[in-house]
Amino acid sequence: VERTLSIIKPDATKRNLTGKIVSKFEDAGLRVVASKRIHLSPAQAGAFYAEHKERPFYGELVEFMGSEPVVVQVLEGENAIAKNREVMGATDPAQADAGTIRKDFALSKGENSVHGSDSPESAAREIAFFFSGLELV
Ligand code: ATP
Ligand code: MG
Repeated sequence: VERTLSIIKPDATKRNLTGKIVSKFEDAGLRVVASKRIHLSPAQAGAFYAEHKERPFYGELVEFMGSEPVVVQVLEGENAIAKNREVMGATDPAQADAGTIRKDFALSKGENSVHGSDSPESAAREIAFFFSGLELV
């Protein structure tokens, strides 16, 4: 089994959509094995998205991610990384397939409700960014 890092972003926590989003993960066969609600500082949000530093939307992204609390979770299941990204849908909700989280809930390309790791390497790095070994069973 594989693990991936999921973030329920500020636009979704603000609208109280955490349970509805987690249900979509569970319906797809993913299991929440770690979960916490945190409020990212600008420095933490910037460090998490450091790979996007040179992109034009970086400042906006970092500000958004620290604007309200987020729920960070480790999801586990067969092919969890790909399955999670499938359930999330395309980055831009206008391009997302029916039934995906972003199609149903995202507000825009930036305020798109969820993040999911995009490779085994990012999953390992992103899980370690938010969770200590003691929090992972
Ligand atoms: P994530 O990494 O959050 O799971 P993703 O892999 O689908 O999403 P990336 O290309 O990695 O998309 O971009 C990271 C995040 O940056 C997006 O989820 C979105 O919130 C924001 N973003 C991406 N493109 C744009 C854009 N053109 N304008 C504003 N924000 C954007
Ligand atoms: Mg990404």
